[in-house]
Amino acid sequence: MAEICTIGGYNEVGKNSTAVKVDDEVYILDMGIHLENYIRYTEDEDIIVVEPKELMQAGAVPNVSVIDDWKSKVRMILPTHAHLDHLGAIPYLANNFKVPVMCTPFTSEVLKGILAEDKIKINSKIKSMSANSSFQLSNKVKVEFIHVTHSTPHTVIIALHTKEGVILYANDFKFDMFPTLGKKPNFKRLEELGKQKVLALICDSTYASDARKMPSESVAKQMLREVMLDINSRNKHVVVTTFSSHIARLNSIVEFGQKLNRKIVFMGRSMAKYVRAAESTGIAKFTNKVEILKYSGQIKSKLKKIAKDRGKYLMVVTGHQGEPKSVLAKMMNGELKFKFLPEDNIIFSCKTIPTPTNIANRERLELNLRAFNVRVFKDIHQSGHAAREDLRDLINITKPQHIIPAHGELKMTGALADLAVEMGYKKGSNVHVMENGERIVL
Ligand SMILES: [Zn+2]
Repeated sequence: MAEICTIGGYNEVGKNSTAVKVDDEVYILDMGIHLENYIRYTEDEDIIVVEPKELMQAGAVPNVSVIDDWKSKVRMILPTHAHLDHLGAIPYLANNFKVPVMCTPFTSEVLKGILAEDKIKINSKIKSMSANSSFQLSNKVKVEFIHVTHSTPHTVIIALHTKEGVILYANDFKFDMFPTLGKKPNFKRLEELGKQKVLALICDSTYASDARKMPSESVAKQMLREVMLDINSRNKHVVVTTFSSHIARLNSIVEFGQKLNRKIVFMGRSMAKYVRAAESTGIAKFTNKVEILKYSGQIKSKLKKIAKDRGKYLMVVTGHQGEPKSVLAKMMNGELKFKFLPEDNIIFSCKTIPTPTNIANRERLELNLRAFNVRVFKDIHQSGHAAREDLRDLINITKPQHIIPAHGELKMTGALADLAVEMGYKKGSNVHVMENGERIVL
């Protein structure tokens, strides 16, 4: 018998976590934080030791107490990829279960990096398994990692093979046929599974109402090429900000920086963390092309040099969402003793994640930046999430008996359910819109 408990990420974008129970074995897929609630809580409290219970109450981590009765049955924690909304709660919650964590090599490096930086010890072995391989976890369950594209490397769709059929967990993916780093999605394997019995598909619904096929990362690269190479930036600063975990995007930025013949400097702690993970897993190489600065002191003295040598550097910094403690915010407000001059170029290779805090932070940052009369280039980006027509393809390829929309507020999960209904599924009978903390027996 297979039972699914929707622990988190079914009422919001963030703190993703789902438990799958196969007879007497439980597997936890993803254990992420809700970034905004997490930052709000940890900043307000100014705490050093973060208590898991309080984080749960603050809505910063998934409420795993909803599976208290399954606790002794949990066998493994399986994060799909390295984004914090999928693995960021492991440092706080793993000790509830004391079972191994298994993920892809890049994901495992990022997780180890977070644990080391925050000086947190967990009683879990962190194991890694490459995409497109599988592992017999017990005599009841085999786990398979299927390679898929997303905005960070080594992202997988997880297939749990049970005697009742395959349970597919596709949380955060896009179908990118022209990735700029790494391979195309493994459609062949998804098709093979579709010919077997897929009992359930638990699926990303964030962009389910977006009537498109999500454009490829190579489209984002072309947008970036135009604003980096086809503008006149002579003797002016060029600053690019993007997601630190987006190694493919950072790779493109470095490529164009070299074409511009500028010295490239990465600034910010999270940037250093993800770059290190990418290098140690052989995904990309930056250290021979880029100077990487982590701490404010280093950054401040470098910026002093850069200011004297206008037009010679490409600065890649944290702060694309306007985060008040980021490098870009501190460059703007004078904390790093840096001054923008008219027609300096600031490229936002991202979209504002539409939460009230982010929107307010970004508006404030942009308003203040514009006071320097700089050139701002916005939305040089394509998302890493599947849109409506990608989701339709996934459903058609894998032919699941049941669909459970995940990763979103109710209007998002509802939009995926509507698509499923359009494709012949019936709400409540084989497409199930669930909220946090609910269970379903399949
Ligand atoms: Zn993600």
